[in-house]
Amino acid sequence: MARIVMKFGGTSVGSVERIKNVAQRVKAEVDQGNEVAVVVSAMSGETNRLVGLAQDIAPMHDAREYDVVDAAGEQVSCGLLSMALQDIGVQARSFLGWQIPVRTSDVHSAARIKEIDASLLDQKFSEGHQALVIAGFQGIGPDDRVTTLGRGGSDTSAVAVAAALRADRCDIYTDVDGVYTTDPRIVPVARKLDKITYEEMLEMASQGAKVLQTRSVELAMAHNVRLQVLSSFEDKPGTLVCSEDEIMEQEIVSGIAYSRDEAKVTLVKVADRPGIAAKVFGPLADAAVNVDMIVQNVSEDGKSTDMTFTVPRGDLARAVQVIESANSEIEYASLDTSATVSKISVIGVGMRSHAGVALTMFRALSDKGINIEVISTSEIKVSVLIEEEYTELAVRALHTAYGLDAA
Ligand code: ASP
Ligand code: MG
Repeated sequence: MARIVMKFGGTSVGSVERIKNVAQRVKAEVDQGNEVAVVVSAMSGETNRLVGLAQDIAPMHDAREYDVVDAAGEQVSCGLLSMALQDIGVQARSFLGWQIPVRTSDVHSAARIKEIDASLLDQKFSEGHQALVIAGFQGIGPDDRVTTLGRGGSDTSAVAVAAALRADRCDIYTDVDGVYTTDPRIVPVARKLDKITYEEMLEMASQGAKVLQTRSVELAMAHNVRLQVLSSFEDKPGTLVCSEDEIMEQEIVSGIAYSRDEAKVTLVKVADRPGIAAKVFGPLADAAVNVDMIVQNVSEDGKSTDMTFTVPRGDLARAVQVIESANSEIEYASLDTSATVSKISVIGVGMRSHAGVALTMFRALSDKGINIEVISTSEIKVSVLIEEEYTELAVRALHTAYGLDAA
């Protein structure tokens, strides 16, 4: 007997028929003798609908009431799934966040899970319940009010439940059948990965491969929860997200990620003296603008240099405003921006122990005549900023260059 957490996303529970299909999948695990906790999202489109209602009532609404409204979608889907399970003879019951309880911080609509007390769930299993259906995305704050975890948060709920229950596995059922070497819409010969490390998955997720909420992967890594991403519509193995020592043969590069959500800011001739970088990035941090790549060169004359950084595209206007209003402090000659750049990243834990990985990237891009504007590296990643129009071309070229194309 194993303890398994199964998580179903919005499309997987998007209709009555699909919920019945999910119930069959849960029953199959129960029939194997497993104890199953099921975490569900709201039916697809439902959270958007609820968010819209809240906006229409009052654009400047109370965040605590917003969470009460928003959390409702998961209440419906977990109740419906429990009914569907009971209907096919599975001993099931539903749990809302507060009933377990899933204790969170007080940051409404972006709360973090602090603690899940597994004793009630443990007790229900020992009383003979076969499937415990848990509303994802929701919890309860320090003042006992309902909280939600941020969009996509039910992935994080599922991992947290798996950690609390010491589950053998956390299976995330979704509308894709696993994690691919890159976006199959761009590279039809992309391969599904059997396994990927937490670190790589984190890079893939935050790079725009939107399979799992980033925080869920962080949590899985911290608690060593084995995560499997698989399709709720097909019967085949997915991708296991696990620690490095579970992967025998590690490729040097596991995947290519891209993000079009990038904008570039260059401060031309900014003073080259101590404290300037803090003056640039301090106000940006205060304005909650998340800066990603940063480059600054040595100055030729010892007085000034150019500084380039990237921000999410939607934050560009705000970033410019922040910099311009700090101009007298920062002292730069001019400000250049571009909102037509994209970031391409080559990711793999194998590059820790291999030389020349970046060179392969630069050669492949140069062969296609693609200019690299900014480069940044980490232990397991090389990223470049390029003109957005070459995104597909670059991803395809790199996928081939690293030998990732399916045979
Ligand atoms: N229902 C929430 C959302 O749409 C949470 C989730 O699906 O993970 O963001
Ligand atoms: Mg999701």
